[in-house]
Amino acid sequence: MKKVILNPKRDYSVVHHHPWVFSGAIRAVEGDPAPGETVAVESARGERLGWGSWSPASQIRVRMLSFDSDHEPDDAYVEGLVAASVARRAAFWVDGVTNAFRLVNAESDGLPGVVADYYAGTVVVQLATAGAERWKDVIVAALMKYVPDCTCVYNRSDVDARAREGLEPATGLLAGAEPPELVEVKEGPVSFLVDVRKGHKTGFYLDQRDARAAVAAYAPTAEMLNCFSYTGGFGLMACASGAASVTHVDASAEALALARKNTERIHFCGTKCEFVEADVFKQLRLYRDQGRTFDLIVLDPPKFADTKAGLMRATRGYKDINLLAMKLLRPGGVLATFSCSGAMTTDLFDKVCAEAAFDAKRDFQVLARTRQGADHPVSLTFPEGLYLKGLILRSF
Ligand code: SAH
Repeated sequence: MKKVILNPKRDYSVVHHHPWVFSGAIRAVEGDPAPGETVAVESARGERLGWGSWSPASQIRVRMLSFDSDHEPDDAYVEGLVAASVARRAAFWVDGVTNAFRLVNAESDGLPGVVADYYAGTVVVQLATAGAERWKDVIVAALMKYVPDCTCVYNRSDVDARAREGLEPATGLLAGAEPPELVEVKEGPVSFLVDVRKGHKTGFYLDQRDARAAVAAYAPTAEMLNCFSYTGGFGLMACASGAASVTHVDASAEALALARKNTERIHFCGTKCEFVEADVFKQLRLYRDQGRTFDLIVLDPPKFADTKAGLMRATRGYKDINLLAMKLLRPGGVLATFSCSGAMTTDLFDKVCAEAAFDAKRDFQVLARTRQGADHPVSLTFPEGLYLKGLILRSF
């Protein structure tokens, strides 16, 4: 049996079911495990604490798969984890709000490095770690077996995290039939076309579904600026809620082309829509110089900080766009601002927004706080799983 023995006093987090073992916590490794192989994890006193997947290239050297000391995880165990994770989403199939949601949310669903998203029968996976890669065939077979109406499993393991694990990017069909070029998914009153082969992440920002609905409540009659629009997201929901106009801004021409296509498909849309291919940092300055103002502004930027080290630069970026957006907001207007950087805590994000408001010489009240939806749950023992947070602010 291959084994990892922890340093004295470094077993606290595993004992408390945190899924990560960092290299510095390890005293010895026995049996020369291969990347992704399952190892027993033991305390310095020789107690077995559970089992995890070995990642020799990563600072996170072991990711826990089981805290049951007696049974080494096997195919049936991993299949069971996938089945349980899918079963926890049962309500999504019946509530009729959407047919696109996350099925497996990595560590927070007990499957480190494994993400699986459902798009109207098409399942898209991201396997980010050596352990996830090791269990690929079992995971794919389990998804085909347990996901209702599953027509295929498509691989989008072209994520940066794989490089830190010494893994090459991997994409393509893993099981079932080739998915359509664009998959149509429903979200509340609208639908989106999703490009699962080339779109961001697994194709769509499923994690913002609740926030898009929350922001839509402020859209009736509003002139809206949808910054970092991607394929239309917040703006399309605002159209359905009766926004007077929506200006989408994104740096990606492909994303905007799909945003336009998505907009054209909403038949009840009386909203005037504009699609601007530009850098948001520059476009906000341009609008400031032109004296243009809005009733509703969304700032949903990409991840500015990957690590704690990048946080300083990220903080400046967040402050910059929030300050600029606040100045473009009409009195009484609403700003919905988000951060999906894991390293940016909720407290720090509040502080950055407060500083931006101070510099903009504006006062705001918090109407709502948002976070990633319930299909992206956060395990109580894994607070790192909370990455997406948002504030819906009204100027007063
Ligand atoms: N709000 C979207 C998701 C936004 S993802 C939704 O609900 O679906 C972030 C988007 O920001 C991506 O589409 C990316 O192309 C865009 N982006 C990244 N940097 C940018 C920049 N500097 N200026 C404009 N767009 C940018």
